[in-house]
Amino acid sequence: MATETPQVTNFLRNIIQEDLQSGKHETIVTRFPPEPNGYLHIGHAKSICLNFGLAKEFGGRCHLRFDDTNPVKEETEYIESIKESVRWLGFDWGRHLYYASDYFEQLYQWAERLILQGKAYVDDLSADEIRELRGTLTEPGKESPYRGRTVEENLGLFRRMRAGEFPDGAKVLRAKIDMASPNMNLRDPVMYRIIHAPHPHVGDAWRIYPMYDYAHGQSDAIEGVTHSVCTLEFEDHKPLYEWFLANLPVPARPRQYEFARLNLSYTVMSKRKLLQLVQDGDVAGWDDPRMPTIMGLRRRGYTPESIRSFCERIGVGRSDSWIDMGILEESVREDLNERAPRAMAVLRPVKLVIENYPEEQVEEFAIANHPQRPELGSRPVPFCRELFIERDDFLEVPVKGFHRMAPGQEVRLRGAYIVKCTGVAKDDAGTVTEIRCSYDPETRSGLPGAERKVKGVIHWVSARHAVTAEVRLYDRLFTVPNPAGDDWKSSINPASVEILRDCRLEPSLARAGAEERFQFERQGYFCTDLRETRPGAPVFNRTVTLRDSWSKGGKGA
Ligand code: ATP
Ligand code: MG
Repeated sequence: MATETPQVTNFLRNIIQEDLQSGKHETIVTRFPPEPNGYLHIGHAKSICLNFGLAKEFGGRCHLRFDDTNPVKEETEYIESIKESVRWLGFDWGRHLYYASDYFEQLYQWAERLILQGKAYVDDLSADEIRELRGTLTEPGKESPYRGRTVEENLGLFRRMRAGEFPDGAKVLRAKIDMASPNMNLRDPVMYRIIHAPHPHVGDAWRIYPMYDYAHGQSDAIEGVTHSVCTLEFEDHKPLYEWFLANLPVPARPRQYEFARLNLSYTVMSKRKLLQLVQDGDVAGWDDPRMPTIMGLRRRGYTPESIRSFCERIGVGRSDSWIDMGILEESVREDLNERAPRAMAVLRPVKLVIENYPEEQVEEFAIANHPQRPELGSRPVPFCRELFIERDDFLEVPVKGFHRMAPGQEVRLRGAYIVKCTGVAKDDAGTVTEIRCSYDPETRSGLPGAERKVKGVIHWVSARHAVTAEVRLYDRLFTVPNPAGDDWKSSINPASVEILRDCRLEPSLARAGAEERFQFERQGYFCTDLRETRPGAPVFNRTVTLRDSWSKGGKGA
């Protein structure tokens, strides 16, 4: 079994522990509130592990709530992929699946209540005008000329907004708080805007939609959320979150806590940028194995365990920091090292002919599936006169320290025999087309006295028995740690995928179904593609190389 990293403490655990000990809460309720405007990414995984993890640890519950307040960008495809991602990561919301849009009627009633109390008004200014009057961090804002409307007038206009009488952008509902507040979020924030667009969850019921800031805290309160955990950029919104709760007859008083979002090097995580990569065709879709989305990581071969242990390892704090992609890669390497069976795969094949091996003979070698885990057993691997080896494992003129195949040099074929290279055949262009060798029958692996040591061991597959398959070598999507600025796309890694169509794999791999993971000896960890693997015709994605090839000088594999 793969082991999880032991839990490191985080400040939210301490807060919750105190709240339970002091009797402030009997049980805790958290929520994960994605906006269904894209697929979830590894940053969301941090939030999911945190929210679902805390609930699980303290015997509470965690809700999955779609924060679906903007129908223009939201889609049913995203809703489905989000549910799938959370489940795949290993979390369960039970019957607690919610949509902010289910609360639209209640939110509307509460908005009318604020109007009746003189705490909200309808404004006819455009978005630009509102922005202009908002002031700056050093200058107070100016009041809108519509701020003084009477309660009756506001109520009438708001109801007409709901009825669809006005075009998009003609009016908004604003909270009447303080245009001079040092906190810009309290300068009469917009609560509702007019959008004539159908909504993926509630259809065409509404012409006005609540803003996130108005919907969020009230949704938390309706659901009885105790600890509303969000990322640090919402710290300045907290007074507004509190203001709404204090001014409305909400059934509960959730509290907001902020933590530092995950920033990961060599990728991008804003959904706007991820969408652009998809739309521009830089990747094959939201679940392209190079994407930092949970579905992309899954196709790449990441396990849920490796992502959870990564999230545990990076901890939860309150200061913004960057995490190196190498740490995520190391998490999956550690997990797969434990669990992935070994196999031999020749990615760039060249033929090896054993001149003194009988033409029709076939032997089977039992090769262990895992060097440290004998309980995983072994598999028979056929061996015959003609094999394939890795083109890279041969050098006609070996450089110093090259202990693999070279003229006159001995090398062990993994789990089989020691062979000695006797010559090569080339085509007219001088490319090696065939390597020839002889084998020493006394060196059969496992035979008494066969332990004669040679310096190199290489992997191989039987030419007659091998399966031909497509293998995709994935690498990081960007060549720089922080692809930022207007030309962030200029640092897309041109070698982020290399597709090899003529790989030769040991025959046992023909049976691999979708999403099976292996270590290809000496190459890395690979996973059969979830979508494109067919019975008898696996397609493999490289999850990660065996060692980090980026840490020194950032060249990649
Ligand atoms: P993006 O900026 O990528 O569009 P978002 O914050 O708008 O992301 P939401 O769907 O609103 O995306 O996010 C749902 C939850 O996930 C929020 O509580 C948010 O704080 C959290 N979250 C989003 N990105 C990260 C991240 N990089 N690290 C940790 N938590 C995140
Ligand atoms: Mg958001």
